[in-house]
Amino acid sequence: MTDFAATKAMFHLPKGMIYLDGNSLGALPKGAADAVARTVTDQWGEMLITGWNKAGWMALPMALGDRIGGLIGAEPGHVVMGDTLSIKVFQALAAGLEMRPDRRVILSDSGNFPTDLYMAEGLIKALGKGHELRVVTPEEIASAIDEDVAVLMLTQVDYRTGRLHDMADLTRRAHAAGVVTVWDLAHSAGALPVDLAGAGADFAVGCTYKYLNGGPGAPAFIYVAPRHATRVSTILSGWQGHEAPFAFDLEYRPNPGAERLRVGTPPILQMAALSAAMDVWDMVDMADLRAQSMALTDMFIAGVEAACPMLSLASPRDANARGSQVSFAFADGYAAMQALIARGVIGDFRAPDIMRFGFTPLYIDEGDVRGAIDIISNVMNNQLWDRPEYKIRAAVT
Ligand SMILES: *Cc1c(COP(=O)(O)O)cnc(C)c1O
Repeated sequence: MTDFAATKAMFHLPKGMIYLDGNSLGALPKGAADAVARTVTDQWGEMLITGWNKAGWMALPMALGDRIGGLIGAEPGHVVMGDTLSIKVFQALAAGLEMRPDRRVILSDSGNFPTDLYMAEGLIKALGKGHELRVVTPEEIASAIDEDVAVLMLTQVDYRTGRLHDMADLTRRAHAAGVVTVWDLAHSAGALPVDLAGAGADFAVGCTYKYLNGGPGAPAFIYVAPRHATRVSTILSGWQGHEAPFAFDLEYRPNPGAERLRVGTPPILQMAALSAAMDVWDMVDMADLRAQSMALTDMFIAGVEAACPMLSLASPRDANARGSQVSFAFADGYAAMQALIARGVIGDFRAPDIMRFGFTPLYIDEGDVRGAIDIISNVMNNQLWDRPEYKIRAAVT
């Protein structure tokens, strides 16, 4: 059994705060501050350029990729770190389209995070081959998979509602129609067990600053199935994905394996933080994490619904059908969330009316859930949110 009291003790959690936003930015693992400080002083400071060899910086994107791969059911050597998730979406999508040169449709759903759709639009423009981005509702996805579709690009857990797509089933349907799959695991990695190899996924991408706790600006990851790794071509043929970066050839020759998905110089300081965050994950069994996440989110839903009839549940009621977050719709949700934040309950707001709360068993327990329910009940039932200062929109909501 995973000892969640022990994992909680490994995080810095500000006093008086109930942090229900680990789905946007994970809390600081205590080890990360030290790891970054040591990397700065002992490696960057003392080793300078020799750190690439001496401290193993060059191997970090693949080594860390394997640690993340262990949480998402990836084969060793097939998860590569680097860049941001938006970039990795672009790269995976380009690789997928190239595997289906006879088809012109990218299929996605309206529950996808906008950047994924924006990157698809940008790629379509750059390719100039008349591709089309087809966006249907999440419920329509299964029936919209047909033989016009080149790539099915989905975010497994809806960032707004937490609704969970069935990766194995949709991948099977996609493959039956000859469709390549790109799964975005932004709200899955570290939130629930994922089995990429078992599902037969072609590509997956995700970020590491949400449930994985790698810190703001932590690098993204990309997965390619072993059956494609030696053949995929990516639009971002950077030197770090070259077969021999230090041969400085004038022509691009891809690395023979998944490492070809590297692009440019990796962020060493961010990876030091992520590496320390992954030490916490070494203590975690994903089945325990899922069971605890379901218990916490069920408890939260029951408590909030009992106390706050004005809030309507925007997440699936069945824990099996959602990720590790719970959303409620409320017309004045922005102001209500500011009132909660002022009282130490940190969630976030997603337009037009969604109050979103993330639950990460690594550092959120039943006591936190009870405390949050009390504060939400007080704010909602006494209309404490109805003040002008709570209605001023900040840049980041
Ligand atoms: C958080 C998130 C992103 C963010 O992309 P960045 O490039 O890291 O800013 C992209 N896609 C999804 C589905 C997300 O949830």
